[in-house]
Amino acid sequence: MGDDDIPPELTEQDRWGGWVMARREDGWCAALDRKTMLCTIYAQRPMICGEYQAGDDDCLDQRRLHHID
Ligand code: SF4
Repeated sequence: MGDDDIPPELTEQDRWGGWVMARREDGWCAALDRKTMLCTIYAQRPMICGEYQAGDDDCLDQRRLHHID
């Protein structure tokens, strides 16, 4: 996550030693509010999240995959 300033309790190390957003048992990001489906750290979310375009093909594929209308 490079220079991102993410609360450490929301991160974990992947198998290659890089720091990534932690996932909870349901598979979703640890920063996601399950009731609202909104990011709880929106203002300081990782840069990669800010670059992700809602409504683009990848986004729509993920929404279909996870049955989100
Ligand atoms: S925007 Fe990023 S940090 Fe926020 S809930 Fe989604 S994946 Fe997690």
